[in-house]
Amino acid sequence: MTDLELKLAPLVDAIKEGKKVAFFNGAGISTAAGIPDFRSPNTGLYANLAKLDLPYAEAVFDIDYFKENPKPFYTLAEELYPGKFPPTKFHHFIKLLQDRDQLHRVYTQNIDTLERLAGVKDEFIIEAHGSFANNHCVDCSEEMDTETLKAHMRDKQGKQNGIPTCTKCNGYVKPDIVFFGEGLPKKFFTQWDQDCDQIEVAIVAGTSLTVHPFASLPSDVGKKGLRVLVNKDRVGDLGRRKSDILALHECDHVAETLATLLGWDKELNKLYGEFGKGDPVESVDKAKNKAEESPKKEGDLKATSNDDSKGTIKEAFEKAEDKVKEDSKTHPVTPSEQSKESEQKLAELVEKLKI
Ligand SMILES: [Zn+2]
Repeated sequence: MTDLELKLAPLVDAIKEGKKVAFFNGAGISTAAGIPDFRSPNTGLYANLAKLDLPYAEAVFDIDYFKENPKPFYTLAEELYPGKFPPTKFHHFIKLLQDRDQLHRVYTQNIDTLERLAGVKDEFIIEAHGSFANNHCVDCSEEMDTETLKAHMRDKQGKQNGIPTCTKCNGYVKPDIVFFGEGLPKKFFTQWDQDCDQIEVAIVAGTSLTVHPFASLPSDVGKKGLRVLVNKDRVGDLGRRKSDILALHECDHVAETLATLLGWDKELNKLYGEFGKGDPVESVDKAKNKAEESPKKEGDLKATSNDDSKGTIKEAFEKAEDKVKEDSKTHPVTPSEQSKESEQKLAELVEKLKI
């Protein structure tokens, strides 16, 4: 057995015993998907932003700056818009736990929605920093559907210069990702209140745990809970409890190892292959099945209606995205009054820029 396999043994035992697993995800679980690292000077993303003449790097995610000049954000959004990247093995591993009724919750800092694309259901996901699934006017809060928003983004020759603009008041429209100066979704706090004492197994993955309040969640996990860190470096207070497991490796490597130890490796590779390398038509069918197996709610019918379109991962995502949008209507996101310290802002930016 390798050192990693030995370390993971108590986690494998816990899963075999039927314990439920909660995840605390950061950007590191998505890097294997090819999502560019904003901070690297070698990426096109960095070069694009440098051209935008930002007064300071954080401005791209600052709500006050956005109200003045949304162009930098929309330039970045074009690069990061969900649909360009498939889920990783780590995302599919989460889905495999859901299939076995052993998923407790997924707290994610990522706005890439790859958990959803892997088929994890809305009821399990808490997107602490929001997502691209819904969009609102920053002035009058009027909603704009994603198709309209994308059409506005594509219309670069139009009078709005490719910036989505409210049809009601002409204000700028922004996806519901949490900017500096905005509170976290209320659901994040209410769900954590319910979950924190119930957690049997916590997997903290691909995060530097520097962004509060998210960073404090693993410390709040009850003493009886088994905590596992999957990250290249040791972070937070992980490792301080005797039972903590430190798997200091790439997230996908740990997902593969776990799947092998549990005998789920074929299933994992199948899911991954279908998305990453398989026939794109298969991916569309897969997304359809996903939508169909999700709990039916009012408004779902349109989103899950069958059509015979063939296409790419992007199209598959758009179907999932419509569903997300419908689901979200039943869970309105209300900004809290929470304010952030400037240090936290910077840390949060760094985390966001890892996407
Ligand atoms: Zn408006």
